[in-house]
Amino acid sequence: MSAPNQTRDKQVLRETVQVAITPNIMPATIDHTARRVFESFSDRFKRKLNGRQERALKLALGGHVIHKSDRIFSVRSENGNHAYLVNLDQSSSTCPDSRKGHVCKHRIAAYLIEQANEANKSVSQGDGRPPPSDGEDENIAKARLVLNARSETLREAIIYATIKHKDEPLNVEVISIEGGTAVVRALPLIRNGNTLVPQFPFEGDRAITQVLAKSLMDIQIYR
Ligand SMILES: [Zn+2]
Repeated sequence: MSAPNQTRDKQVLRETVQVAITPNIMPATIDHTARRVFESFSDRFKRKLNGRQERALKLALGGHVIHKSDRIFSVRSENGNHAYLVNLDQSSSTCPDSRKGHVCKHRIAAYLIEQANEANKSVSQGDGRPPPSDGEDENIAKARLVLNARSETLREAIIYATIKHKDEPLNVEVISIEGGTAVVRALPLIRNGNTLVPQFPFEGDRAITQVLAKSLMDIQIYR
């Protein structure tokens, strides 16, 4: 296999797969934040919420939350037919559920976005908190977050990268990243425009191998 072929194969893949990562807050950051926030809830509170936190996470991940000003958010309902105003300072939401005295999913969704935003800021501004892994490339850190995410949908993300194999670039799928090690699978080659041919370039005619996470180049996250 030659380098030009690899490049062409990657272009084909890029044309056929939609990239859906939001530029502002990574879904993985929202997911990560949700895990931290939900863990802080008492069992009693969780019983009271009766699953609203999971529905809130869905709203937050689905782009239903829009930041208006300060701690005020507009949150679109699950079916998209209504938008409710959430004021986190006043612990209020304009939805029927909130009027009945419940802590509604819109408030929780807004809170998740606010907290994820904070987490985002502190990582990118380097306010003294350590990055996910010391001196790690931002894209590797993102890939790691996605792969270790809590929600199934996020774990189903497909991550492609390029490694150097026998001095040639080789396109791989990243299967896992743990510690400084990534497990990768060689991507099939595309022959005659549409036939996928698996390749087994690694030691012992294997398709899968371990590489150093920091050796991953040109990381692409698709979900
Ligand atoms: Zn509400």
